[in-house]
Amino acid sequence: MTHHEPVIDLHTHSSTSDGTQAPAELVAAAVEAGVDVLAITDHDTVGGWAAAERAARERGLVLVKGVEISCHYKWSSVHLLGYLVDPADADLAAELHRARVSRAQRLELMVERMSADGIPITYEQVVAQVGPGTTPGRPHIADALIEAGVIRHRDEAFADWLSERSPYYVGHYAVDLARAVRLVRAAGGVPVIAHPFTRTRGAGIPDSFIAQLAAAGLGGLEAYHRDHGPAEVARAERLAAEHGLLLTGSSDYHGAGKRNRLAENTTRRDVLEAIIAQSSGVTAVVCP
Ligand code: AMP
Ligand code: FE
Ligand code: FE
Ligand code: ZN
Repeated sequence: MTHHEPVIDLHTHSSTSDGTQAPAELVAAAVEAGVDVLAITDHDTVGGWAAAERAARERGLVLVKGVEISCHYKWSSVHLLGYLVDPADADLAAELHRARVSRAQRLELMVERMSADGIPITYEQVVAQVGPGTTPGRPHIADALIEAGVIRHRDEAFADWLSERSPYYVGHYAVDLARAVRLVRAAGGVPVIAHPFTRTRGAGIPDSFIAQLAAAGLGGLEAYHRDHGPAEVARAERLAAEHGLLLTGSSDYHGAGKRNRLAENTTRRDVLEAIIAQSSGVTAVVCP
């Protein structure tokens, strides 16, 4: 019998994308950190689900299967969390595949620009950092630079060479945000915008468009996230009240790749229950 409110962390990454721990290690770390309900939400892939599910069953953790979909709104990059989607949905799977292919191509272009400018790095060194079935990302360029002894931590590369303001930056294909919201719903999942008011490339999402997305099936906003200050949290809370959206909180844990700690932000139990109630794509793994 549990006498405390469950600790619910609905946004984490494994080495199936840019986290540093394999799915089973992520699950173990979550149990260690006192997490009761964990969502695995790798960038543009569900490839970590099976291993995470096996580990969750062994350790008695509730696993929420999710994915963090690379999207765009006009010229802004936006991340959409899709919870409990049916992984067999062909339209959604096609978009995830297209993003992964484009991500690999853009890393090759970024490395070309970097090496042409004298930074000692090759695409082969980057590929060596990307495991089989892993969604490639800028952090893998950082990892290759670490391996080569050029830098010490991913942060150093992101502060400079890998930033969106860098001359080496190249974008990648990302699905239109409104289309992604509809795709997640069509796949039986619940769409929640990740860190919706983080500063990224472009102007961001205006309130009027959040209203349109809510009408198109958006389920919630990830309000409680380290990239949000009090103003962003207040904005998310106001929009949620106006449009009947859920508010989630999460760590966006990446293992050793980022400073985010498991359960540094959490989601309320009734919000998790609403997400599960709204979904029909795949069931959460509930363990005794
Ligand atoms: P990409 O998806 O290839 O555009 O790379 C962006 C990803 O890199 C984000 O989703 C973050 O998870 C990760 N990232 C951003 N900044 C950092 C950082 N300072 N250290 C490690 N990872 C980072
Ligand atoms: Fe990431
Ligand atoms: Fe994100
Ligand atoms: Zn994330």
